[in-house]
Amino acid sequence: MLSNLITSIIDNCSPIKQNCLLCGQAGTRRGLCPPCRDMLPTLPAEQCPRCAEPTLGGMLCAHCQRRPPHFDALHVPYLFDYPLSGLIHAFKYGKRLPLAGVLGGLLSDFAQGSGHEYDLVITVPLANERLAKRGFNQSGELAKAFAGTINTRFSDNLCWRKYNTASQASLGRAERLRNVRHAFGVKRRCDGLSIAIIDDVATSGATLSSLARELKKQGAKRVDGWALARAFSPKT
Ligand SMILES: [Zn+2]
Ligand SMILES: [Zn+2]
Repeated sequence: MLSNLITSIIDNCSPIKQNCLLCGQAGTRRGLCPPCRDMLPTLPAEQCPRCAEPTLGGMLCAHCQRRPPHFDALHVPYLFDYPLSGLIHAFKYGKRLPLAGVLGGLLSDFAQGSGHEYDLVITVPLANERLAKRGFNQSGELAKAFAGTINTRFSDNLCWRKYNTASQASLGRAERLRNVRHAFGVKRRCDGLSIAIIDDVATSGATLSSLARELKKQGAKRVDGWALARAFSPKT
């Protein structure tokens, strides 16, 4: 089902045609008709104020109580679930940049009116090898849309990735933290800055936390993560 969806998305992804990517309805704004947009799986409103994990009554979750992440908050509108997961897969692996407009629009709409202000918008950097293989950093496109919406500067050269980490997909929370602990470097001081890190999908938040830690070492005052979707690790 997912692969059918991805194929139809890719076939349907001409930047000129403005048909809904999910149902084909003509004349839609930003590639999704309102009913399909409303169908996208949202995160429950009651969630951990720190990491966006759904919690009873919006309490701080057990993980954040025990070992708070280095970012100050994670903002996520959607669950990584069908059919949004199909759009994100097509975006990431199908090299379909027109999808950047659709997904960037979803994140920007969420950010609009949130009242958050930043000095700088950045992405989670990819290692050179992975960047060469994929051809683009997909989060960069989301980040540019986001930065435009909140009228903030986007920088793609503040941070770098020291090495390619093993894929996080099969790892539990503790392994994820270990896997990315020293993965990032920050090139300049960021004294007093509020920084937003944009990612497409956040799972445990380990990657965002590791990057936030380096930014704070360089003087950043506040670091928030913004991701389009929150996935949940099969292991905890
Ligand atoms: Zn539709
Ligand atoms: Zn939490």
